Amino acid sequence: YANRLVGSENNVWVEFTKLASEPGVLNLGQGFPDFKAPEHVVKSLQQVIASENPFLQQYTRSFGHPRLIQALAKLFSPFLKRNIDAFTEILLSVGAYGSLFCIIQGLVNPGDEASAVIIIEPYFDCYEPMVRTAGGTPVFVPLRPSKKGVISSSGDWKLDPIELESKFSSKTKLIIINTPNNPLGKVFTQQELELIAELCKKFDVVCVADEVYEWMTYPGYKHLKIATLPGMWERTITVGSAGKMFSVTGWKLGWSIGPENLLFGPKLVHQNCVYTCPTPLQEALAVAIETEEERLGAADCYLNSLALELLPKRDRLAQVLESLGMHPVVPEAGYFMLADISKMNIDLPDDGKDEPKDFKFVRWMIREKKLAGIPPSAFFCSEHKIMGKDYVRFCFIKKDSTLAKAADILQNWK
Ligand code: PMP
Ligand code: GLN
Repeated sequence: YANRLVGSENNVWVEFTKLASEPGVLNLGQGFPDFKAPEHVVKSLQQVIASENPFLQQYTRSFGHPRLIQALAKLFSPFLKRNIDAFTEILLSVGAYGSLFCIIQGLVNPGDEASAVIIIEPYFDCYEPMVRTAGGTPVFVPLRPSKKGVISSSGDWKLDPIELESKFSSKTKLIIINTPNNPLGKVFTQQELELIAELCKKFDVVCVADEVYEWMTYPGYKHLKIATLPGMWERTITVGSAGKMFSVTGWKLGWSIGPENLLFGPKLVHQNCVYTCPTPLQEALAVAIETEEERLGAADCYLNSLALELLPKRDRLAQVLESLGMHPVVPEAGYFMLADISKMNIDLPDDGKDEPKDFKFVRWMIREKKLAGIPPSAFFCSEHKIMGKDYVRFCFIKKDSTLAKAADILQNWK
């Protein structure tokens, strides 16, 4: 295979999704719901399939189906505090993965000059191979926990402003931020975003804001868009995901929103590798977004209600973990929770592999306890994996009955 792919062979989702699919294993690993998507969203797809309009079964516009980009522009304009031009300022691709790929391939130059990409850790794992295969140089800067060994909040993980600034240079092309963050669930504060924005402006850097979990922000926290800070629209591309927005991860539609000049490169990548995304799914998503947009802020709006539905699940899981001494990092947003496994005195068999403890722990937990999670050191660069090795990530966008079974497994641990 191609030389540029060397080093990207291992993938945590490929390995752990396979292990989690073994019979009898309860899966709190990969992030997806085990309950039904909102009825109107599924219905909109059924109606598209039943439609007499023959064009809904054919190719649509390359950069996004017109009805969908118009629905996205209408939904996001108030949140981005400007009138988004659907036809020039949105690029629709294959999930947020596809969006990130097009952005990174479309903006990063291979080689040493102006190719560094700052990635805040822990990070959604694909950022690193995407940057490397584009020929860029990832530069990592970790959020560090200010509290350890106690129940804590994702907000206790903080950036060191001096360390962050030290990573910026004339070679920095992009910074990728993920707020709310996967796997922590941290919602970046205004102060943190202002600092990042100031550095982007000072060093002429483009900011990629992966905001796929924006709709799942818990009461008391506010998701802020870095693109709305002064001087940042011009240098930010904001990424979103239909899979996360409507609990339909299998739909794999994602979008990039930003100024036309920044989307130019990503569009070239998209037009030559994907060309266009499935028309029926795009039409159905458009209808679903139109429905939600009309009832934004109302109790029955899924974009508002999902976080409230998830809140008791989050609190119940945190309580169970805490009672076992697996101190949870309670998320401010999203549907993942880190649990501290450093106090679990388990004799992990030596499998001869030179890997962080969390990988061995999760494999053991799947095999022996029939419970799957994700090892968080996958979200750190090789040098910083030690920061993730004492945790396991659990996904809690699951039916109460699934979470009750998980609690049973955890409570009967010893
Ligand atoms: N970014 C983050 C932070 C994610 O957790 C995910 C997984 N949903 C993605 C991007 C990719 O999203 P999609 O499934 O839409 O490709
Ligand atoms: N984003 C989801 C997670 O973090 C799924 C990632 C994947 O399947 N590649 O669990």
